[in-house]
Amino acid sequence: VNNVETLANVPSIIKKGGDWYASIGTEQSKGTKLFSLSGNIARTGVVEVPFGMTLRRLVEELGGGVPNGHKLKALQLGGAMLGFIPASQIDLPIDFEGLVSIGSGVGSGGLVVIDESACMVDVAYMLMSFAQSECCGKCLIGRLGTKQMLDILQDITNGGGQPEDMDLLAELGESMALGSLCPLCGGAPDPVASILRHFRDELEAHIKERRCPAGVCQGLTQ
Ligand code: SF4
Repeated sequence: VNNVETLANVPSIIKKGGDWYASIGTEQSKGTKLFSLSGNIARTGVVEVPFGMTLRRLVEELGGGVPNGHKLKALQLGGAMLGFIPASQIDLPIDFEGLVSIGSGVGSGGLVVIDESACMVDVAYMLMSFAQSECCGKCLIGRLGTKQMLDILQDITNGGGQPEDMDLLAELGESMALGSLCPLCGGAPDPVASILRHFRDELEAHIKERRCPAGVCQGLTQ
């Protein structure tokens, strides 16, 4: 709780009062939040915004939008082990409760902007690779679950995916979320779950048509 961001708020709250701070933000999410903007965005860096601001304002006004004439495809807010937010949900406000309800979260305050040139399956594979390499191996479901999911995603990006892989990814993800001892492997399936929910057509193109619509996965047609 007492991280640098929290402590940095204390002098202003002492000086101006708790009511002043509570007047910023939404009914349930008070105050401001720092976000670190990265990825396919014109202006990277750290910004402080009031809770309640829409994701669109954060990306387009403060971050300068997606560069090079590309369209926004997805956002990943809060950290690598949280779900992707599709571009269609960019008008949602930033608050704790609303973001959690869509499988995302404020988390660490990271914001990765992903444009249309990215393959969501490939991005999910890279994130699972990170989780699997960082996993400490203490609990069985975390250790084996990340490896199993990584193998499945690798098969899919290499053109060897099978239709039953989609159900297998979902079942594995639920088991890992329930049984992992800590949020690293417990959250690792969240990006995959959001792809099953929001980018299923892209996943199906890889598996059923051996096609990567973004043209990223080598060996697959576009
Ligand atoms: S969930 Fe946590 S404790 Fe379990 S293997 Fe993964 S990193 Fe280790």
